Amino acid sequence: MNDTPMRKPCRLCLLRDINPAEYEARVKRLINLLSPAEKTPADAYEARLRVCTTCSYLKDAFCGACGCMVELRAAKKTEKCPYGKW
Ligand code: SF4
Repeated sequence: MNDTPMRKPCRLCLLRDINPAEYEARVKRLINLLSPAEKTPADAYEARLRVCTTCSYLKDAFCGACGCMVELRAAKKTEKCPYGKW
């Protein structure tokens, strides 16, 4: 018996494999799956993203500090910036 845990393959490992429109749609779909109780209020969400857009860690929609998709992280009320910026 093999005790090695199964890992899902990452299908978005290379930027060259990402279709920007599909990526955006995927992030929006994931955000829409959040319940109203899980979602950051719209004004706070926009404030979080304003901070990210001025942050040197932001690169191609990902946070260089933690590797998250910032729009998805910011959309979850309980999430925090790894550097305490929001
Ligand atoms: S989550 Fe924090 S560290 Fe990452 S890009 Fe946004 S502000 Fe910068």
